[in-house]
Amino acid sequence: MVGEVLLDGLNLRANPEMCVVVLTGAGVSAESGVPIFRGKGSMWEKEEARRLASRAGPPWNTRETWEFYEWRRRLVKSCEPNAAHLTLVRMEKYFQDFSLVTQNVDGLHRRAGSQKVYELHGNMWQGRCPRCGEVVELPETPLKSLPPLHGCGTALRPNVVQFGEPLDSRVLRLAVEASKRADLFLVVGTSAVVSPACELPLLALRHGAVVVEVNRDPTPLSGLVTRSIRGKAAEVLPRLWGELLARGRHY
Ligand code: NAD
Repeated sequence: MVGEVLLDGLNLRANPEMCVVVLTGAGVSAESGVPIFRGKGSMWEKEEARRLASRAGPPWNTRETWEFYEWRRRLVKSCEPNAAHLTLVRMEKYFQDFSLVTQNVDGLHRRAGSQKVYELHGNMWQGRCPRCGEVVELPETPLKSLPPLHGCGTALRPNVVQFGEPLDSRVLRLAVEASKRADLFLVVGTSAVVSPACELPLLALRHGAVVVEVNRDPTPLSGLVTRSIRGKAAEVLPRLWGELLARGRHY
């Protein structure tokens, strides 16, 4: 990747009127220090973690679940957004129709300053009342009580999609609509095996978008997209954005 022009040969120029959609996965937060999902030694290799995060596991508004989430929240609290997150904030300011769709639950895109973020799998900094469905911000860790309680007295569950649970249909619909109208679709740091997120780049491709993948490793999407770039998100994204801008200026 060093020295190579990333977008060489592609008919792409930055133009504020373009529709741009970015789908991110755990890899975008890897350089911030947040462990990825399928990495060697990942916590998700542990049966106990998978059981806790699964719909078939114990009820989700318990002390046991929150102890697990408090551990993850503490870990993420000590991490900072990296250059990839910050580049996406700049892109959002430039493009009038920009959507950031993420599978991440770490909240780092919002912490970096991204405004319009479709969090397909929820957010670990929120709780949800299983009785009335209200979503409550829980920015502090440690929490005062485990499990935290909603105003109505019901124990909250993390506002994170469990394995085997359907996604929020409104968030998914918005992500699908944006993907269909995308001129440029970036797929960053996802193994592209979790459905329905992994279907969005293919949907965009079918609707005529230029789809560019940025990933440290090859994925099932690599051979299907317009361009697949091998490298770390925090290094590639700023370069890619620089190239797009430079091309836009000379248009
Ligand atoms: P994944 O772990 O399956 O895949 C991560 C991908 O990122 C891999 O293809 C890997 O090669 C790549 N990668 C690793 N480091 C990278 C880097 N520095 N730059 C670019 N690419 C890099 O993650 P996924 O595809 O997001 O799916 C996993 C599921 O787990 C999601 O549903 C997500 O909600 C959840 N999850 C979220 C977080 C988080 O919020 N940060 C962390 C772990 C898991």
